[in-house]
Amino acid sequence: MKWTEMEVEQPTVMTMLRQAVKKDRLSHAYIFEGMHGSRKEEAALLMAQSIFCARQTEGRPCESCVECKRIAHGNHPDVMFLHPDGDSIKKAQVEALQKEFTYKGMEAGTKVYLVHQADTMTASAGNSLLKFLEEPASPTMAVLLTENAHFLLPTIQSRAQRISFAPPLLSTRTAYFQEQGMSPASAGLLARLPDETLANYEEESKEWIVQGRALVIQLISEVQQRPQQALLTLQEKWLVHFKDRKELDIGLDLLLFWYRDLLSVQKAGGEFAYPDQMQKLESQALSITEQEIAASMQFILDAKRRLRANVNNQLLMEQLVLHLQEGS
Ligand SMILES: [Zn+2]
Repeated sequence: MKWTEMEVEQPTVMTMLRQAVKKDRLSHAYIFEGMHGSRKEEAALLMAQSIFCARQTEGRPCESCVECKRIAHGNHPDVMFLHPDGDSIKKAQVEALQKEFTYKGMEAGTKVYLVHQADTMTASAGNSLLKFLEEPASPTMAVLLTENAHFLLPTIQSRAQRISFAPPLLSTRTAYFQEQGMSPASAGLLARLPDETLANYEEESKEWIVQGRALVIQLISEVQQRPQQALLTLQEKWLVHFKDRKELDIGLDLLLFWYRDLLSVQKAGGEFAYPDQMQKLESQALSITEQEIAASMQFILDAKRRLRANVNNQLLMEQLVLHLQEGS
C-alpha cells in the first residue's frame, strides 16, 4: 500500500508519523495498536521506508529507491521481523534477534524491528525484549504491532509510544457489500471481518454469514439467561455452523463485535455491528460494567489465539461460554 493511500485510511496516524520523520523526532519504541484490517503492518513498513529512503521528502518515502523496495519486499538488512512461532513469540526468538543486532551493530545506522502480534510474547520473551528496549546494542527502533496493547507487559507499555489506529473505513466497506446485494446488517458485519477472511469470501457465504449472525444473537441471549441451553446450542448449532478452525475464527469475530457494540452503547456512540439489536444491547449494557465487557473481549481474543494452537474446538467454545457467563 502506498503512503498516500494510507493517509486516506489512517490520516491521524500518518500525519503524526510523517511529522516525526520530518522533524527527526522518532521514538525508539512504538506500539501500533489497531484492530484487524486497520493496516498497521503497512503503516509500519511505510514508516521504515521513510527512515531509510534516499529520497524522502516532507517525511514521505519515495517508494521507488532501492532502500524503499527492499523494505517493501521484506529483505532490507536493517529491517527485521518477529512473528509468532506457533501460538507465541518465544524468548529464544527475541534473543536471536538481539544477537543479530549485536553483530550488525558494527555497521552504522538505525536498525528497525517489527514485532507482529506482539501480544503473543511469552512473559520471558517480553522481559528479554524489555532489557533490549532499555539497553539497545545500537540505535534501534522497535515497533510492536498488536490488536490490544493491554496484553503487553506494563513495563513495555510504559516505555513505548502508543499509536492508536482507527478501525478500517467501515462505511466504504459496508457500502461495497450492500452493492453486492446484502442487507445493511449483514454487510456491516462482513465489512468488519479481516481482509484475510474476506479473501476467501465467496458468493454462497452471504447466507452463511446471516445465519452465523443469528447464532451469535441467540448464544449471547442464552449465555445471559439460560446457561445450560447455551452449552446445548453450542453443540447442536454453533459447532455445526462454524465447522473448522477458519469458520470458528469468523464466529469468534462476530461474537467480539457484539461486545464492541456493548462498549459503544455505554460510551453513547460508535458504529454498530448489530444496529438492529439496539434494544437487547441497551438492556445488556445496563447490567454489565465496562471492566466486565473488556474482560469478555479478552476471553474471546484469547480463544482466537488458542484456536491457532489447534485446541479442540468444542472444548475451546465451552470454556469461552463459561467465562462469558461469569462476566455477564
Ligand atoms: Zn525511497
